[in-house]
Order: sequence, then C-alpha cells, then structure tokens
Amino acid sequence: MNWAPIYKWAQPYSDAVLNFIYPPYCIICKTRLESGLTLICKTCWHRLPKIDNAQNQKRSRANLDFAESQISKFLAVWEFNKAVQEIIHEIKFFGKKSLSKFVGRELADLMTHDKDYCGVDLIIPVPLHKTRLRERGFNQSLLLSQAISTLTNIPVKEKVLKRIRFTRPQSQLNASERQQNVKDAFRVIDSSAIKGKTVVLVDDVLTTGSTMLACAESLESAGVAKIFALTAAVTL
Ligand SMILES: [Zn+2]
Repeated sequence: MNWAPIYKWAQPYSDAVLNFIYPPYCIICKTRLESGLTLICKTCWHRLPKIDNAQNQKRSRANLDFAESQISKFLAVWEFNKAVQEIIHEIKFFGKKSLSKFVGRELADLMTHDKDYCGVDLIIPVPLHKTRLRERGFNQSLLLSQAISTLTNIPVKEKVLKRIRFTRPQSQLNASERQQNVKDAFRVIDSSAIKGKTVVLVDDVLTTGSTMLACAESLESAGVAKIFALTAAVTL
C-alpha cells in the first residue's frame, strides 16, 4: 500500500497520530521500534556514516570548490548513503518534525564544537522557490535551521534570501548543469538584516555545492561578513 497520500493528509497532526496511522517501524531496517522511539531504531541511528570533518576537509569535492569561494568553512554530519537518504527523504517529503529535531541536534553539536564556527549571528536556510514550497508545504532546510536555533539560540532569518527562479531538481543534473541551473537563482531581499553579519547557510544535502555557492554569492554581494555552510549529508 502506498502510504504517501495518508502522510500528506496527516501532516498537520502530531507524530503521535502518525504513529497510530503508520505503525512504528524503523524506516531503515523495518524492524518494529521499542516504545518511546520514533522512526529510527538505536542500532540504525548509531550505524549512520558520521563524517570525520577534519579529515574530509581535504578530500570532499565540495571543499575544494569552496576553497576560492565566499564560504569560509563547510561541515556535514554524515556521508550520503541509503540509510541517510531515508532520513532526508522523511524530512524532505513528509516534514517529519521529530526527525528534523534529531538531525538538528547533530548539526548544532557539530557547529558548536568547531572552533572556527564561533560568532555566528544568524542561521539562513537555503530557500525553496514559492512554487515548490506550495507543493511541499514546508522547507526542509528551514525545519533543520529551526531545530538548530532551538539548541543554540542563534536566530533563523528565513526571509532575507529568496529563490527567485524556479529551478529543476539538482538531482537530475550533472555538475556543470547544476551550476548553470542555480546561477542567479537567489536574491537577498533585505540586506540591512544581514550586512556585516556572520551567517551559517543550512541545507539537507550537499552534492556539488553549486546551490550553496549561488546562495553565498548573493549573500556576499549583500554585505555579509562571513559565511559558513552546514548540511546534514554530503556526497564524497
Ligand atoms: Zn533500524
């Protein structure tokens, strides 16, 4: 049975209601969850491929691309694999708040334990185009940003950066097409709110980094002092 329509219908309701409608099985290994757990079992959660960011600064393609860019430093929690994809999928297409809080905790942890990430004034989620936002009902990057904000007390500025062009999903494109696809797709609409600030750009997954770079270009031209990037997953 395809549960997706039920999920969509039930989205405004709490996870407790969803657990009643959608039996509590681990989304990764499909075993029944012990009570008190939602969506993922402990074993699967601990098996997720955590990134050693210190080591991967050198070998991540994104970081090489970022070397000459406006992005001072990039951090990610996990290497993208099938299990991580399941988690991102739940947040991206079903807006699972409980899961975004778990992921947000990992992101906040990563950020607060990195000495370079000090003095961050604002969290900026990578925006969705209004058409995509209408389709989906929420922005997964905003859900993650809000979860980080709750733990760090750093405010989220969700309306300063806007996606002004509707772009094809990056996943359907190769590296150079991705770059072209997001070129000039973003615009800062309230530069006074971010001028001279240190910001962290938040997204769910980073593949080639072209979306982050396009956002960073707009932010820099609007006068942002320093830009960090943070994602839940990265393809290495
Ligand atoms: Zn599991």
